[in-house]
Amino acid sequence: MGDASSRAGSGGKTAIAYVRSIADVRASIAVARRQPDAVVGLVPTMGAFHEGHLSLMRAARSRCSFVAVSVFVNPIQFGGTDDFNTYPRDLDRDLAMAAGAGADLLFAPPDGEMYPPGFETAVEPGSIATGLCGASRPGHFRGVATVVAKLLNIFAPDIAFFGQKDAQQAAVIRRMATDLNFDVEVSVEPIVREGDGLAMSSRNTYLEPDERTQAVALFEALSQARDAVAAGETSVARLRRQMKRKIAEHYLVDLEYVKVVDPATMEPVSAVEGPVLAAVAARVGRTRLIDNMLLLPAGGD
Ligand code: AMP
Repeated sequence: MGDASSRAGSGGKTAIAYVRSIADVRASIAVARRQPDAVVGLVPTMGAFHEGHLSLMRAARSRCSFVAVSVFVNPIQFGGTDDFNTYPRDLDRDLAMAAGAGADLLFAPPDGEMYPPGFETAVEPGSIATGLCGASRPGHFRGVATVVAKLLNIFAPDIAFFGQKDAQQAAVIRRMATDLNFDVEVSVEPIVREGDGLAMSSRNTYLEPDERTQAVALFEALSQARDAVAAGETSVARLRRQMKRKIAEHYLVDLEYVKVVDPATMEPVSAVEGPVLAAVAARVGRTRLIDNMLLLPAGGD
């Protein structure tokens, strides 16, 4: 166990164990499992914590006797032009925040612990991963599914917690857990937003002040679509046009896609005949942002 556990735990009432090896994770989980009726929760993350991450940890704390958090900026889910090298990293701050949220263990492995020499096996998601972000980030969800499969095997949690912020990721993981018979409940928690509606993201720190102001366009477009559907709109073509128009009002926001899809399969739908998911991706300066919202038809369920 690392020495950061004492550092992170010294100020608050809860100590958090800081581990960097898979063997140490397994040893800690084995001890936690000795408790009768133990429920192990896992919150996989890439660190640079914000309230979105903390909400997952609190959800885990409310349902689990042992809460584990992983912090790993997973190289195999980043493409060549992505921000792997510049992705924000601050482990000391993350440890203190995870301890404050009541986590019991934080696993932050070096890359070589997860991908030792000779590593060459992957999980390949199907059509659920080809649209939306999968279209512009080839291999991204293969990298996500592979690292989550590894984490589920390392921790063997009863419940794994993910954010609806990354709706396609959550759907890919649900599908994988079902298809590959992982004995885990996948719990997807609501999107945590800033005061103006911008979905919290570690990447928001990249935004310049004027970009930050205009980034709210994604939330505004989605909210407009939600209101239109609640008022009876069923045409996806019209909804998409309205959302594109709203985003185009913000000159710093460069739209990548706006889609309306089935919330479980991520397949595009042409009409709103039940709950559907509106999903948006855009570049704001050098920052790629995503957001989504469930659209519920008037009087539907
Ligand atoms: P990340 O560190 O960005 O990979 O995110 C780790 C987990 O936190 C993922 O399951 C995300 O979906 C979730 N997450 C990120 N941002 C938010 C947010 N604003 N609200 C809720 N969950 C979030």
